[in-house]
Amino acid sequence: MNKQNQPLIFELSREGRIGYSLPENDVPEVDLNELFPKEFIREEAPELPEVSELDIMRHYTALSNRNHGVDSGFYPLGSCTMKYNPKINENVARFPGFSHIHPLQDESTVQGALELMHDLQEHLFEITGMDEVTLQPAAGAHGEWTGLMMIRAYHEANNDTKRTKVIVPDSAHGTNPASATVAGLETITVKSNEDGLVDLEDLRRVVGEDTAALMLTNPNTLGLFEENILEMAHIVHEAGGKLYYDGANLNAVLSKARPGDMGFDVVHLNLHKTFTGPHGGGGPGSGPVGVKADLIPYLPKPLVVKKEDGSFGFDYDRPDSIGRVKPFYGNFGINVRAYTYIRSMGPDGLKAVTEYAVLNANYMMRRLAEHFDLPFDRHCKHEFVLSGKRQKKLGVRTLDIAKRLLDFGYHPPTIYFPLNVEECIMIEPTETESKETLDSFIDAMIQIAREAEENPEVVQEAPHTTVIKRLDETLAARKPVLRYQKEA
Ligand SMILES: *Cc1c(COP(=O)(O)O)cnc(C)c1O
Repeated sequence: MNKQNQPLIFELSREGRIGYSLPENDVPEVDLNELFPKEFIREEAPELPEVSELDIMRHYTALSNRNHGVDSGFYPLGSCTMKYNPKINENVARFPGFSHIHPLQDESTVQGALELMHDLQEHLFEITGMDEVTLQPAAGAHGEWTGLMMIRAYHEANNDTKRTKVIVPDSAHGTNPASATVAGLETITVKSNEDGLVDLEDLRRVVGEDTAALMLTNPNTLGLFEENILEMAHIVHEAGGKLYYDGANLNAVLSKARPGDMGFDVVHLNLHKTFTGPHGGGGPGSGPVGVKADLIPYLPKPLVVKKEDGSFGFDYDRPDSIGRVKPFYGNFGINVRAYTYIRSMGPDGLKAVTEYAVLNANYMMRRLAEHFDLPFDRHCKHEFVLSGKRQKKLGVRTLDIAKRLLDFGYHPPTIYFPLNVEECIMIEPTETESKETLDSFIDAMIQIAREAEENPEVVQEAPHTTVIKRLDETLAARKPVLRYQKEA
């Protein structure tokens, strides 16, 4: 029997069982009441599980085996770039010179780390076509907010304070309008046309004297390249606005096209997507932001700079900076991994990433288009969307298809996003998957399409092979149980 499917006995606690041993106390005991105010001292001991070391090992190993990750199977989650994270990144991030340093150390003792940060900044502005980069933001959404705060500061410095609107397409990632709101700006939506691209007429209609920025992903979240991007940049710049590039997923343009050359003024990158930082489960990310020259004064401080004597250090002398956006200098460990990836791939390697990412997506899209609706029948970039409309008519919803994929051992694609496609299924295979893997996934999808016609209950009642069937996801999000609670 597949051990992963055995029900997990969660309550292992037995009174008096312990999994640790401490040496006898050889220092004087302190009176807690002297150290802390009374209200901080608990009256009763916490209820912790009493287990042996072996119990706890088996418990966590069993839990980890139930996770699905890139290292355990295919993970075609659209707009998330779940590519393989090369293990050489981990080796380098563990070098003691990187992992054992402290952010308060004197600059002269961490020159290697500073040089890596400086070199990474330069690689990133070369890749994006920008003039300077900050490594501080901790994730994509944080980068978006940082970029928008800089755009705001730029307009304010020009006494252009009526520019409070950020234009986002209706296919935009949810973080875009959210970041604009948190940055104190207002979002307005620009419509997509029937080709899935920004409607230029609608863009002309919504830009104006109150436009702070147009915020865009290119290729957009439908996986389509906004081919009118130069015209769009012209429209927005003419009106006095800035162009923001959501570069969370750079897999389709890496070493092929640069946001800076398309007319963008600000771009954030997700080093934990395109540049192989491990992600999922909310782990540390890194969302560096690049800007064109006229926005450099507003970058967060400090910046890592190369001094005249050739050494590296932090530049705090930045009077117009929006300030710090994160304690210390960003998620350094993720930056080391991304740097290792960029250096080990080289420019030709990064070009190959894009070519295989786009080839894999188009291969899958064409084979699946015979069995599912393809809302935009055009060449795609790194990802594509299908619609489960045909299956819905048979009583099988896109959610059911996603759940049925679990029975085949796959992480489902992104579903019901972007919002402008009915019963949306968004697939991003990435460049690191073999043709055999792509073919097996396609076969599973074709089988599910056939089941929807011949035996819809199998899909409607899926998953059949997992320990837990369908969760109440709303309840799980609203009332999460995040710590051990002793069984009554
Ligand atoms: C993932 C993603 C984001 C958000 O990135 P986080 O690191 O999760 O904050 C923003 N935009 C797009 C298009 C994305 O795919």
